[in-house]
Amino acid sequence: MQENGRILSVILNKVKHQAKPGVSTLELAEYAHGEILKAGAESAFLGYRDFPGVICISLNDEVVHGIPSSARVLRPGDLLKIDIGIRRNGFYADMAETIFLGATPPSEIESLLQITNRALMAGIRNLLPGNTLGKVSQSMQEVIETGGLSVVKRFVGHGIGRRLHEKPPVPNFGTPEQGPRLKAGMVLAIEPIATFGDPEIAIKQDGWTAITVSGALSAHFEHTVAITPQGPRILTSTCQAG
Ligand code: MG
Repeated sequence: MQENGRILSVILNKVKHQAKPGVSTLELAEYAHGEILKAGAESAFLGYRDFPGVICISLNDEVVHGIPSSARVLRPGDLLKIDIGIRRNGFYADMAETIFLGATPPSEIESLLQITNRALMAGIRNLLPGNTLGKVSQSMQEVIETGGLSVVKRFVGHGIGRRLHEKPPVPNFGTPEQGPRLKAGMVLAIEPIATFGDPEIAIKQDGWTAITVSGALSAHFEHTVAITPQGPRILTSTCQAG
């Protein structure tokens, strides 16, 4: 899973650099597919519950599960959420990042990105043997709400391993009394999603794409993380110890 995570982080990084104004989200997905296959992996999302895309690309008020399309051409100022899952040698890895298309994001967007990423890191820091999962959830909620944003509660992280979505669900909100106790050897996909104001979401006509009802922008960051006796180890990273 560590090797898969490293491979996935390299792929996501490459896809990020292909994301430029004038490129369609389908072109981006096709590029991603080439890289996934070259790595000896397969897309975890294509065909998952009949999802029609290789990766998820969600723009602006789209929250998650956007379907790549030739009709969606990237424009300067777009807020792009790239979510990629792969399967290789029987194990899954899952990762997402949000990027702003343009030189300098407006300060509001910059703080949305920073706060959501900080929430992810707070959650990861709490992935310690003996902690409750609720402590992880609470730490993410706290960062997001202290930052003046709201948690999109409809979507949660998950266990990951021989299946893409395993138990337990990992909510991005909660209290320390909740959830199972964490143990070394667990691997979880941690994925906070934050937005401005009302976090209610709706699903578009395509049956997949989640959007904010208010039309507000949202951000999503995800890592696949292993819990070790020494603490959390981010698997979806290019710089790994041991
Ligand atoms: Mg996930």
